[in-house]
Amino acid sequence: MKRRTSRTPFEVRTSTIHGTGAFATSQIRKGTRIIEYVGERISHEEADHRYMNESRKDHHTFLFAVDKKTCIDAAVDGNDARFINHSCQPNCAAYNVNGRIFIEAIRTIEAGTELTYDYAFEMDEPDTPSVRKRYACRCGSIKCRGTLLKRRRKRKNIGALRLH
Ligand SMILES: [Zn+2]
Repeated sequence: MKRRTSRTPFEVRTSTIHGTGAFATSQIRKGTRIIEYVGERISHEEADHRYMNESRKDHHTFLFAVDKKTCIDAAVDGNDARFINHSCQPNCAAYNVNGRIFIEAIRTIEAGTELTYDYAFEMDEPDTPSVRKRYACRCGSIKCRGTLLKRRRKRKNIGALRLH
């Protein structure tokens, strides 16, 4: 059975940032809860097991790190939230509400604008040039920090993880 998601104020189409993106179909006011990030809830060990050994070329995984124990794998029973791209200057943010993840508008977004949030990846891997390259950011914003990785020494309440 195909999963039916509730009506969302965005559509999914090709993005200049990365692959497929989510674009507002009407104005979305600041503070609007846009969509819940859903999928199968798995351990980090299981996430590593599923994806770490696969070739990343043309392979998409949709992992969101909820906390130290749990990841959401949106490749299994996920909804369109998994298509929202990263930006270093985002118009949305992901909030953890009792372990559920919601994407909310952090400013008013006009119709046609791509929805983005800061993935702020947290990596166990050492920070090497090849890791940097794998997580290179092409968001194109003026404030682009050049990577999807979390800025060092800056505290954030949650870290999102989505590997391409
Ligand atoms: Zn960027």
